[in-house]
Amino acid sequence: MKLKLYHFMPDKLNLYGDIGNVISLKKRCEWRGIDLEVENITDTTGIKLTDCDMFFIGGGSDREQCIATEQFAKIKDEFKAAIEGGVPALTICGGYQFLGEYYKAADGSKLAGLNILDFYTESLADKPRLIGNILVESDKFGDIVGFENHGGRTYHNYDTLGSVSVGFGNNDDDKKEGILYNNLIGTYLHGPILPKNPKVSDFLIQGALDNKYGKGNYILPELNSDIELDANKFIAQQLRKSMKK
Ligand code: GLN
Repeated sequence: MKLKLYHFMPDKLNLYGDIGNVISLKKRCEWRGIDLEVENITDTTGIKLTDCDMFFIGGGSDREQCIATEQFAKIKDEFKAAIEGGVPALTICGGYQFLGEYYKAADGSKLAGLNILDFYTESLADKPRLIGNILVESDKFGDIVGFENHGGRTYHNYDTLGSVSVGFGNNDDDKKEGILYNNLIGTYLHGPILPKNPKVSDFLIQGALDNKYGKGNYILPELNSDIELDANKFIAQQLRKSMKK
């Protein structure tokens, strides 16, 4: 079994260990005998998203985000078709913000997004950045834990990853985190998110296999994820405890 992942702009968009997500996907495939080929994309000219089975975009500072936007704009229609067609994707923080209409930085400058999904993100000069550990309660994935550091507040009415019980998530208002749209996940969780949230990894891998080999034709075998799940549980417990203080 073979899958291909496009990792966009790894040289610019790799905050707080985001590359660990790619390592996690690769390992969880390898442990099941699936060959996940990772192709790093730093120039999008001529790239076809139909050639990959999933894609990943990490987070970045406003400066990097600005540079990366130029690259992404070149394949905007490809991104839209892939997302609408159910290609699994993980996009983190700045990588998530790209998919909306715009990102307004704290200095007031506005960076046009790809406008693939109907949302926007704004940093506010008079409001602090949203920084710290985060715990999200998700119906689909159980407890999701990670770390966030963003000025941008994102607002939308799509499905989310879940409700924030510790931290901020999409904004400092509605206590919701991320987006779940077809097989696309957008999230503010760095850390990186996948190693300690293995159910999210497996959702992406299963989606890629379903698209490539037909739904139900290859069900991912269970892996022993005790270490990963123990880490998740420990962090979630600590965060819940910190709330009670
Ligand atoms: N520049 C964006 C913000 O601060 C994204 C930061 C990030 O990717 N962590 O909102």
